[in-house]
Amino acid sequence: MADLTPAARVEAWRKAKRKQGYKFVGLWMTPAGKGELDAVAWDRQQDLGDCVLDLVRFYSAAQGTADVRLEARQQHRIEANVADDVIKRLVAAGAVPSTALGAPSVVPAPLKEPPPPGLKQCGNPAHPPYDTNEHDECPIHASERKQRYRDKKAKQRSG
Ligand SMILES: [Zn+2]
Repeated sequence: MADLTPAARVEAWRKAKRKQGYKFVGLWMTPAGKGELDAVAWDRQQDLGDCVLDLVRFYSAAQGTADVRLEARQQHRIEANVADDVIKRLVAAGAVPSTALGAPSVVPAPLKEPPPPGLKQCGNPAHPPYDTNEHDECPIHASERKQRYRDKKAKQRSG
């Protein structure tokens, strides 16, 4: 091997590396950057390529695990909050029994069935469906509206 030219020695070394399953990758680095990489590789007693790969994998793993764990935790919390909120709304609307509040992990009971033909359900599920032949609007809503109108009139008279 002593009689090999430097170029031949480099070529022999590259051939040996390829045999080990390596691929030549050129890197453009600042002298300072190369110095930092050399220092780390020397410290770890590694080839520059192995050192770079280790650092890349270390970085990916750190990023990946940190993000995945955080996301899983947040996702779980968000789902729990949403489920809780949905159940509270359904209970407030009278669609599910209030016992559902004690068990937020339970799937909420299905909403009320749609009213039969000829009947209409107003926006408030606590109001019973009304006959569209008899009423133009929900009778409870109508009486509430009339009451508000009377209250307003009374206020105007007194004020
Ligand atoms: Zn109504």
